Amino acid sequence: MYILVINGGSSSLKYQLFDMDTRKVMAKGLCERIGKGGHMRHTAAGREKLEFDIDIPDHTFAAKLVVDKLTDPQYGVLSDMSQIGAVGHRVLHGGQWFSESVVIDDAVIGAIEKCIPLGPLHNPANLMGIRACAAVMPGVPQVAVFDTAFHQSMPKSSYIYPIPYEFYEKYAIRRYGFHGTSHRYVSGRCAEILGGDPADHNIIVCHLGNGSSLCAVRGGKCFDTSMGLTPLDGVEMGTRSGAIDPAVVSTLCEKTGKSPTYVVDQILNKESGLLGVSGLSSDFRDVNAAADAGNERAVLARDILIHTIRHYIGAYAAEMGRVDALVFTAGIGENNAALREHVTDTLGFMGVEIDREKNLNPDRAEELEITAPGARVRTFVIATNEELMIAMDTERLVAAKTSKND
Ligand code: ADP
Repeated sequence: MYILVINGGSSSLKYQLFDMDTRKVMAKGLCERIGKGGHMRHTAAGREKLEFDIDIPDHTFAAKLVVDKLTDPQYGVLSDMSQIGAVGHRVLHGGQWFSESVVIDDAVIGAIEKCIPLGPLHNPANLMGIRACAAVMPGVPQVAVFDTAFHQSMPKSSYIYPIPYEFYEKYAIRRYGFHGTSHRYVSGRCAEILGGDPADHNIIVCHLGNGSSLCAVRGGKCFDTSMGLTPLDGVEMGTRSGAIDPAVVSTLCEKTGKSPTYVVDQILNKESGLLGVSGLSSDFRDVNAAADAGNERAVLARDILIHTIRHYIGAYAAEMGRVDALVFTAGIGENNAALREHVTDTLGFMGVEIDREKNLNPDRAEELEITAPGARVRTFVIATNEELMIAMDTERLVAAKTSKND
């Protein structure tokens, strides 16, 4: 079966086509600047790359373009649209309604709409992708895979904020957590590698990219995670502050005359983190290179990142009482050996020690154990693959629905 995975943004539509027999990506690409011009990139296995400007007025047109290119005799890999067995969508926020992926129907669309206040930028865009695919591929089953779903297993003590309880009851203000599809995929792969009963494993996953979050996974379920009501909470990120005293917001409002919305959406989300502290870049490669060259603010930005990652690892070790594995993933976690070495440098007390040579990952393995001989906790680098996880969920749910209907 071929499954199309869609990640709909407000002015973009990213896609990957999976052949589920081999679990390989057959084609992928991106429509961007939707409604503001338009540009498309498309690559397919064994085909020439394609990149061109084209007026893309809306997401439905973009979805049509995707299907056109996938079935194009020269650039495509499908002979006919009917070969697409199902479509899986990445959806940011499932609120308290969704603790797992789900086949999309009108009720699901209604619930995703209800979550718009919690994901005001992403959920409307995700819905545009869903509606566009429904229009272009009528009758093809669609599945929603939520970034928040994996974290719905957290105990209340992890997700309730210590503020008046009525705000949770009235407004559903609580920790939700994000990157759930990545944490589920990576912790699942780690559990497979560890072997034995996944219910026995305590794993800490460090998803470190432009946006970063850590997750404590106990017995295959999320026990705690560092992002909160929104993806602003937790460790220092590319442009986001991560956790800070909320009184910083009111103080900044007073001092700068800006509104709370500006302080949070602009200053804390877009001008802080590695960029804000270093004054150089939000990209860890740049900050790391400047730090190595002796730039003091870059050193500070890097030190804060290391400090905040360790902070959550320590907290999760204490919360779970035992850690069996520590996993690094996403852009920084997978690619930056120095960061992994810095972070784990002080973790010997809890049984984490890495092998420096293996940690360099000279062969750029996608899955690699970097544990030092004799260390109690096993440490891994595991490349995340959210798209494959979405495709696998989609295949499973569509097969279950089909067998129920038979
Ligand atoms: P996103 O959160 O947008 O998905 P990624 O997971 O792609 O982000 O991570 C982006 C971050 O990963 C950037 O800070 C970048 O510096 C870092 N990164 C990506 N590739 C490398 C690499 N080869 N070496 C070091 N850092 C890298």
